[in-house]
Amino acid sequence: MSGRDKDIVWEHGENFYPGWRCKYCNTQKAGGGATRLKQHLAHRGAEVVHCRNVPPDVREYFQRDIEKARKATAERARERLRREKAAAEGNYPGDGADAGGGGGGGGILIRFTGIHCTYICTPVSDYEY
Ligand SMILES: [Zn+2]
Repeated sequence: MSGRDKDIVWEHGENFYPGWRCKYCNTQKAGGGATRLKQHLAHRGAEVVHCRNVPPDVREYFQRDIEKARKATAERARERLRREKAAAEGNYPGDGADAGGGGGGGGILIRFTGIHCTYICTPVSDYEY
């Protein structure tokens, strides 16, 4: 999480780096930062005492905020897993087509236009020479 950005949570408490003091109940915490204060206000998390004076709308706001952050983190983890899985299965469209590009074109030409013998004979003999 972004530690240095001015978080909206600091409208509800004072930031004594690396801790804080809650504006509503004056609870002080020596560490933990914005996330802990949010948990304190939202009544979430087992590592922080829950605020007894927080207004209900503030509590709900940070409950949504924590839920949103949790979902975003889970979404990112899922997306990374998907990409790693695709890479492990060798799912790289385009890579194979590029591999034989230079110089070996004659072979591909024969394979695809094998009927037109006169057309192919010239470039192939040129190449061998
Ligand atoms: Zn409080």
